[in-house]
Amino acid sequence: MATIGFIGLGNMGLPMAINLVKAGHTVRGFDLSAEQGKALAAAGGRAAETTQVCVDSVDLVVTMLPAGPHVSKVYSESILGCLSEGTLLIDCSTIDVATARDVAKQAAERGFEMVDAPVSGGTTGAEAGTLTFMVGGADSAFARARPFLEQMGKTIVHAGGSGTGQAAKICNNMMLAINMIGQCEAFAMAEKLGLDTAKLFAISANSSGQSWAMTTYCPVPGLTETAASNRDFKPGFTAAMMLKDLGLSQDAAEQVHAQTPLGAEAQQLFREFVDRGNGEIDFSGIINMIRGEE
Ligand code: NAD
Repeated sequence: MATIGFIGLGNMGLPMAINLVKAGHTVRGFDLSAEQGKALAAAGGRAAETTQVCVDSVDLVVTMLPAGPHVSKVYSESILGCLSEGTLLIDCSTIDVATARDVAKQAAERGFEMVDAPVSGGTTGAEAGTLTFMVGGADSAFARARPFLEQMGKTIVHAGGSGTGQAAKICNNMMLAINMIGQCEAFAMAEKLGLDTAKLFAISANSSGQSWAMTTYCPVPGLTETAASNRDFKPGFTAAMMLKDLGLSQDAAEQVHAQTPLGAEAQQLFREFVDRGNGEIDFSGIINMIRGEE
C-alpha cells in the first residue's frame, strides 16, 4: 500500500481521496478549506496543515484543483521542491493543455514522472469510483498511475503523450455542449410544432438524431431516468463548469488554428446563460433559455 498526498479536496477531490483510503492507502490531504481536511480525516485519511507537509515523503501526489493557474502555482511553489525521489504525480484537474505540458516538463526536469488525468463522470462518478480517466503521459508513467486510477474510476484510457488527456477532455466536452444545445433546440421546436416530446424521444432515440445528451441526459424531464431535468436541473454538471471547459476548448482551437464555429456558438450561448444567473444550475437547463423562458 502507498502513502499518498492529495491536494484539493472539493466536490470531486474529497470522494476520490476517500476511495483511495477505502483501497487501503495512507492518504494525507490538504485543502485551503480546513473543513475539507476534517472530512477526509473523518473518513479514515489524515489532514495535513500545508501542501509541503501533505507531499513530504509520499509515493504519489494527486491534485484536483479548480483551474490551470492553481495547478501551475501549487506545483511550482509548493510541490516540486518538496518531494522524495521517485514520487509519481497525477493531476486530475481540468486545465489547459499548455499548462499541463509545462508542469509535466518542470516535473521531468527534476526527475519526476507525471500524468495529466482529467475525469468525466461528475460527483456521482467520483463517489461511486466509476470515473472515466483520460490520461496523458509517457507509457511508464501511465503504467505506474493506472492501479491508483482504477481505484477511483472504471474506464482508464491512455490518450497519448503529455497533455493529451486534457486535449481529450476538452474535445469531448465541446462535443457534449454542441450535442446538448442541439437536443434543446429540437425538443423546444417539437413542443411548438405540437409534437409530443415523448414521441420525438421514441423516434429519435432509435434514429440518427440519437446522442448521449438525449438517451442518458435528456433536457426534457420524464424521458430518461438519469437526467438532471428530472430534478429541476439540480447539478450534475453546472453551466459554469461547462462554460469553463468551452473557454479551454476555444483557447486551444485558437492556438492550433482549428475551425470550431459551433464550439464558439456554444460558448456564447453558455456565457449568456451563465450571465443570466444560471451558473450553478445543471448545463442541460439551457433548454429554458432556448425555449425563451429565461
Ligand atoms: P471544487 O471547487 O469543489 O474543489 C476544488 C478545491 O480545491 C476546493 O475545495 C478548494 O478549496 C481547493 N483549492 C483551491 N486552491 C487550492 C490550493 N492552492 N491548495 C489546496 N486546495 C486548493 O471543484 P471540483 O468540482 O472538485 O472540481 C475540481 C476539478 O475537477 C476542476 O478542474 C473541474 O473542472 C474538474 N471537474 C469537475 C467535475 C464536477 O462535476 N464537479 C467533473 C469533471 C471535472
